[in-house]
Amino acid sequence: MAPPPEPMRIRVLGSSAGGGLPQWNCGCVRCVRARAGELAPRSQPAIALSADGARWSLVNASPDVREQLARFPALYPRPGTRDLPLDTVVLTNADLDHALGLLVLREALPHRIVSTPWVRDALLEHGAPWRLLERAWGVVKADQPVALDRDGHLEARLFPVPGKVPSWLAGLASNHPEATSALRVSDARSGRRLVYAPGVARLDAGTLAELEAADLGFVDGTFFSADELSRTRPGAPDAHAMGHVPIEESLPVLAERASRGRRFFYTHVNNTNPALDPDSPEAARVRRAGLEIASDGMELEL
Ligand SMILES: [Zn+2]
Repeated sequence: MAPPPEPMRIRVLGSSAGGGLPQWNCGCVRCVRARAGELAPRSQPAIALSADGARWSLVNASPDVREQLARFPALYPRPGTRDLPLDTVVLTNADLDHALGLLVLREALPHRIVSTPWVRDALLEHGAPWRLLERAWGVVKADQPVALDRDGHLEARLFPVPGKVPSWLAGLASNHPEATSALRVSDARSGRRLVYAPGVARLDAGTLAELEAADLGFVDGTFFSADELSRTRPGAPDAHAMGHVPIEESLPVLAERASRGRRFFYTHVNNTNPALDPDSPEAARVRRAGLEIASDGMELEL
């Protein structure tokens, strides 16, 4: 009998939304408890993927990428060299918490950057520092395949999801189907599929079909409820308007899929989300539905 194919490896570099936990300017109960060591701290959102555990690609580059790589020996440069086992950095949108890390990784550029044309153009046109990276930046249209690793085992495709223009681009760029994507990664060896969807305003038919076909999914867990922000800050926009479907809406849909053996993790979890406390009723609801909340440093095989 042939041995089972080597698995795709996944490392959660950061599981928080922008700001992290604790967030530097926030004194909410969860940030206070994270500072006191009572809740696990979380860095800003990104994952790393590998076909063989030796060379890696990143999905998004958070402002915390320097510390995230420092905590991950698999991505250290080879001693005595500047050979870094990093192939590709894929961006799912132009959010600062997904793109600022590209500037942290600006030295040398042995890796390539891949995004939709809209995301590249928005960052290069309106964010002068990103122009330093232009020569390493390739574009892919929605559903156009890109090989993440040199052997072509992992085939990635960005697919459009409902979203919004990042706040820093408001008034500078108008929304477009290419502005917000999620990523599907298929492993040619096993046929297995990963979906990474850290920002989804609504679970439309296209997004649901992608999640339906995924063996493992990371899904937008920014907010637990639609009115989470306005409860503490009257007048604040609701979750959908901020580009995030709340967990209370996605949970029943994903629970049904999780019951058929798929694994789903909430990620991009904001410090306002009560489910960050594992002892909260909200975290218990997520567990009862058969879903999990991603945590920093988590490693998975698929
Ligand atoms: Zn807080």
